[in-house]
Amino acid sequence: MHGPSQRAGSVAALEGFVSPIKAARAVMETTAHVMFVGEGAAALAAERGLECVADPAAWYTHAGGGQDRTGEELATGTVGCVAMDETGALAAATSTAGIFGKPLGRVGDCPVLGAGVWADPRVAVSCTGAGEMFLRAAAAAQVAHRVRFGGESLADAALAALAEVKALGGEGGLIALTADGQVTLPYNSAGMKRAALMPDGTFLCDVF
Ligand code: ASP
Repeated sequence: MHGPSQRAGSVAALEGFVSPIKAARAVMETTAHVMFVGEGAAALAAERGLECVADPAAWYTHAGGGQDRTGEELATGTVGCVAMDETGALAAATSTAGIFGKPLGRVGDCPVLGAGVWADPRVAVSCTGAGEMFLRAAAAAQVAHRVRFGGESLADAALAALAEVKALGGEGGLIALTADGQVTLPYNSAGMKRAALMPDGTFLCDVF
């Protein structure tokens, strides 16, 4: 999602492509629509020449098979990014394989604008965690709207949105930034792999 214009692209139930984010971007940049799913998303990605996963066995990591487990909990695999360019334009992107053991056809928060991803001229947000509760809380848009309409700081807005997710029975985290340079990376899950590169070159990177 591109903040200044609030143009957006999204794909769900897409298999077999190396970069779902590139597919989402192709939706945004080359169609008059916002969201494509399943076969239609795959056809669009193929038409635009996006790279396919040539060898699935070598490409995919089985859920729970990696080193990144906390206790008995299965690791999740969402990757999100929020960014500001040199003109102050914000953007956000979120990509996931979903949650472990999800039923066929289940779509989480990541491809849903306002739930797992959001960018407007003022705020960009990318979320990870229990997608159903992020959907029900409209978590990403909630952060932006708390800042815009409620006058909250970005950090307060993010904590409040995560508290609502928690009250609904879910946990997770988010990364967010504002066009005036506020950055926040809170979580209420056991940990969240996160990193931030600040304009002065400072680099933050942490898990717990
Ligand atoms: N939010 C994702 C989902 O519910 C999962 C994750 O963040 O790992 O599909």
